[in-house]
Amino acid sequence: MNLILFGPPAAGKGTQAKRLVEEKGMIQLSTGDMLRAAIASGSELGLKVKDVLARGDLVTDEIVIALIEDRLPEAEAAGGAIFDGFPRTVAQAEALDAMLAKRGAQIDAVVRLKVDDAALLERIAKRYAEQGRPDDNPETFAVRLDAYNRNTAPLLPYYKAQGKLTEADGMGSIESVARAIDEALA
Ligand code: AMP
Repeated sequence: MNLILFGPPAAGKGTQAKRLVEEKGMIQLSTGDMLRAAIASGSELGLKVKDVLARGDLVTDEIVIALIEDRLPEAEAAGGAIFDGFPRTVAQAEALDAMLAKRGAQIDAVVRLKVDDAALLERIAKRYAEQGRPDDNPETFAVRLDAYNRNTAPLLPYYKAQGKLTEADGMGSIESVARAIDEALA
């Protein structure tokens, strides 16, 4: 099963992906985590994307598509993946469909976590205070939210047209969101 957790930054995708990994043995493919690891390691890729992440902009489609492609054999061996923070543009979604089709696989479900903007801003302020992730600062977060609304929200009709989109209420506790996701997947 290949699942996309879809939603704006700080919607809770990472938290829910980790739970699904523990419960279902799937693997989590988070392009944000991969890019942060590249930056931390000081690799060539890390140096290239560092400023882009710091600004809150999207890195190029080419970079994230290559990162995902590298991990698809591992996902296949695990019986599927949870895509977290990928795809973020229609071009990425089309590339993902093509890469999976080449391997005889497909996206089975897309679960959209719905969280209103006021709740997102509250969450992000808390996460910034607790974890100090630089791109969670209010100005950069506004850029990230804008990138979501401009580039990523248009994916909703893309997956709706494929009949794969389900919605889960992303407000509330981690447990209640988990229940909503499980219901959406049932
Ligand atoms: P995230 O942890 O998913 O919020 O991602 C953190 C940052 O990494 C984003 O603000 C982007 O700069 C970059 N990033 C992560 N995933 C993608 C993607 N699929 N496409 C473009 N940029 C991405």
